[in-house]
Amino acid sequence: MRTLFVFLLAVHSMVIPVSIAAQHAENVFSYKLGLFEITLLSESQGQGNKNILIDATPEMLRKYAPEGSFPNATNAFFVKTPDTNILVDAGFGRNLFTNLQAIGITPEQVDVVLLTHMHGDHIGGMLRDGKPSFPHAEVYLAQPEHDYWLTNSRGEQAREVIAAYKNKLHLFQPLEAGEKATPLLAGIQGIAAYGHTPGHTAFLVESDNEKLLIWGDLTHAMAIQMPYPQVAVTYDVTPGDAIAYRKKLLEYTLKNKIPVAGMHIAFPGIGTIAKDPASEGYVFTPASYPK
Ligand SMILES: [Zn+2]
Repeated sequence: MRTLFVFLLAVHSMVIPVSIAAQHAENVFSYKLGLFEITLLSESQGQGNKNILIDATPEMLRKYAPEGSFPNATNAFFVKTPDTNILVDAGFGRNLFTNLQAIGITPEQVDVVLLTHMHGDHIGGMLRDGKPSFPHAEVYLAQPEHDYWLTNSRGEQAREVIAAYKNKLHLFQPLEAGEKATPLLAGIQGIAAYGHTPGHTAFLVESDNEKLLIWGDLTHAMAIQMPYPQVAVTYDVTPGDAIAYRKKLLEYTLKNKIPVAGMHIAFPGIGTIAKDPASEGYVFTPASYPK
């Protein structure tokens, strides 16, 4: 059943009414961003294990992950513009199609897929029986991400996706945060967030002066990596770069008051960033929604 409600999104201590939001189903959360509608499509909600964290001290864990685990999720996102249906990552492909159906979208109606990177929890929904799940979609992928998987010994799934969409593939060079250039698509820009993978990309979405940074896998353990962005995870291909880009994009979103969304942020997967007075790091405030 579809319910409409107004929700408030806290932005840096100001509480501003964002818009009318619609929560369509258990795994789905939507809100208006200017003329666009943003929807979280949750593939799974659960707990991450502290063993994936690199260089988390016992003090950090005691304070922020006392049970040895932290809230985690796997998400994709959907951006509906007045003329384009854009999917951002394809999750595992578990709940993806049911979630899309819940917002009235069939796979044939997806015009564009933006890929943050090519790990299995982001491209799992791209193929069904070896064929494109989204037969009409143009696929946008960062050139360095494409190049990395072409020669990687564990890149079989990525190469299958690249081959299946080869006539629909748009390779691009992500910008550094704050850099100005012609948008990738109207209201969409690809921003370098390297380190988790060599071409890992965040997508900056903008409509009517409202912005959202969909940052992919910039974090995997919000509870720890917000107060301590210097903690990397074992899944990072180049942990040092992942840390540097995490710090850079957190400062960028803080300075520019840009709400954020992430593929491993617990439901509703979207919120705002502020400085954490208790640490050198940040605090994340999830967007509020009726429980
Ligand atoms: Zn991931």
